[in-house]
Amino acid sequence: MKVLVTGGTGYIGSHTCIQLIKQGHTPVVIDNLCNSKEMVLDRIEQVTGARPAFMQGDIRDSAFLKKVFAEYSIDSVIHFAGLKAVGESVEKPLKYYDNNVSGTLNLVREMQAANVKSLIFSSSATVYGDPASVPIKEDFPTSATNPYGRSKLMVEECLQDFHHANPDWSITLLRYFNPVGAHESGLLGEDPQGTPNNLLPFVAQVAVGRREKLGVFGNDYPTPDGTGVRDYIHVVDLADGHLAALDKMAHQPGTHIFNLGTGQGNSVLEMVHAFEAAAKRSIPYEIKPRRAGDIAECYADPAYAKATLGWTATRDLQTMVKDTWRWQSKNPNGYWD
Ligand code: NAD
Ligand code: UDP
Repeated sequence: MKVLVTGGTGYIGSHTCIQLIKQGHTPVVIDNLCNSKEMVLDRIEQVTGARPAFMQGDIRDSAFLKKVFAEYSIDSVIHFAGLKAVGESVEKPLKYYDNNVSGTLNLVREMQAANVKSLIFSSSATVYGDPASVPIKEDFPTSATNPYGRSKLMVEECLQDFHHANPDWSITLLRYFNPVGAHESGLLGEDPQGTPNNLLPFVAQVAVGRREKLGVFGNDYPTPDGTGVRDYIHVVDLADGHLAALDKMAHQPGTHIFNLGTGQGNSVLEMVHAFEAAAKRSIPYEIKPRRAGDIAECYADPAYAKATLGWTATRDLQTMVKDTWRWQSKNPNGYWD
């Protein structure tokens, strides 16, 4: 299949391109490079022997998208392009609604014009808000606690309305839990700009000496060790979830929603200790106040994805931290090296 990958030079998109190529698909990457580097394409080529076609541009630019769809005969779209920093979204909500919501609507409009009717969208477990219980199933109530989360929820709702009016489309909403890890080659990984917001990139930068110590946001949650619990999933397992969705759903009209998680929760301190073991060094940390908007526990019930897609995460916590450490130690400054 020829698959348009928006945001394909980003963290999850680049790993998905590798898995697409491995399974005989042809990715076509578009990205405006606002949060990634073109060099990622070299790394994909190094790993797979194939360099994805690439066009630099913005999903909000209709003329650009028309050119892309005219140049390539696209079968399906996997849509990663988006902004993802929760804190920034609170400061600059319009930037997030413009990029994530308007950008997606523009993409769908141009897909419709090009008669491409199969879309996989990167959603997030953040759409469950503060869930009443865990593990979280796909039919749990949704809500948003910040503009980033609301942009994901708005897109989900727009796409469901759109599907109602266009029932021959296949639209798959994948709700990711906490993607971590890196490609086993150590050539690709997460490369956050500025201070990392997410736990594992921060821990990795402490381990490599770029930051002095980790702040642990709260140790008084109702969890076994008092720190927040999340469902960390290896980015290559996550990428494989897209492949499974593409194989099983791309030609089944409907709106399909899946959790992509492992079903296992780990605390902040468990992650720190696992990383210490992988990197064979200690990670200094201090307990800080809770971070505004954080919830105690969030982990998936992945049973529906397993039953329907035949997909399940296979990489364990040791592999996640070992692969993160290989990437971070080989590329202390990310793709800037
Ligand atoms: P990323 O920032 O590494 O990748 C996103 C890519 O999209 C970047 O390369 C960026 O340059 C590009 N992009 C952004 N806006 C664009 C635009 N208007 N036009 C063209 N390109 C644009 O992020 P990621 O971690 O790979 O996330 C991919 C998707 O998954 C995002 O939509 C994100 O919201 C979603 N998601 C990520 C996480 C996570 O923790 N990483 C969790 C849940 C959902
Ligand atoms: N966290 C932390 N210190 C950090 C970053 C995160 O203690 O520097 C905690 C955070 O409070 C949460 C967990 O690590 O309990 C995962 O946070 P992350 O931002 O990676 O994911 P999210 O909260 O969006 O699920």
